[in-house]
Amino acid sequence: MLPHSFPKSIDPDIARILEKSLKETGIKLMMGASLENISGDNKVTSVTVNGEILPADMVIMASGVRANWDLAKDAGCKLGNWGIMTNAKTETSIPGIYAIGDCVETVSPINHMPWMSQLSTTAYRQEITAGTNAAGGYDTFGGSLTTFVSVIGKIEVSATGFNQFFAKSAGYEVVIGKASGFTRPE
Ligand SMILES: Cc1cc2nc3c(=O)[nH]c(=O)nc-3n(C[C@H](O)[C@H](O)[C@H](O)COP(=O)(O)OP(=O)(O)OC[C@H]3O[C@@H](n4cnc5c(N)ncnc54)[C@H](O)[C@@H]3O)c2cc1C
Repeated sequence: MLPHSFPKSIDPDIARILEKSLKETGIKLMMGASLENISGDNKVTSVTVNGEILPADMVIMASGVRANWDLAKDAGCKLGNWGIMTNAKTETSIPGIYAIGDCVETVSPINHMPWMSQLSTTAYRQEITAGTNAAGGYDTFGGSLTTFVSVIGKIEVSATGFNQFFAKSAGYEVVIGKASGFTRPE
């Protein structure tokens, strides 16, 4: 439905390069289009996207990730806009209860505001902090830049921090630059 792929982490111009790479592998992408209907009785036969009927054998719905915070909510933990609120010790608003991973709001080290990271690299670092504190030690987690690296089609791509959209939303004046180089030293 959104105008370009990977909207949370990548700028539109880079997304276009990735979309081209995906198309070259034979994937048909329809951006800015919504799924209107799934047809078939016991078995999927077609889908309707933006009025176009497309034959289909299987439909995979991958429409985003949202924290399941029911357990924390029932326990009385404070919730943020997107996830369970925790402090730098990964402790919830209830002393002695710690929360980590996809269900918690972390902070952005850029502007120190709440931020959803939802990566296992973040969860892994948080669990060290939570485990240390729960066992009576002291450790803090400073937030996550949500860095990822992936292979999409024939292209290696990585992203870190805010993309243009989030930087502008956070009130930053955005300066854009481009450079090319190697992924490893020669
Ligand atoms: C397709 C895909 C690719 C990804 N690729 C990457 C990657 O390359 N790099 C990266 O860093 N991150 C990646 N991630 C994100 C990463 O998987 C998550 O950030 C990470 O798994 C979060 O860990 P978690 O422990 O918070 O949650 P989860 O790993 O989801 O673990 C939660 C567990 O709780 C269990 N559970 C739920 N409810 C209950 C209940 N009531 N009782 C008992 N158990 C329960 C679930 O079964 C599950 O095992 C990817 C995610 C997806 C979906």
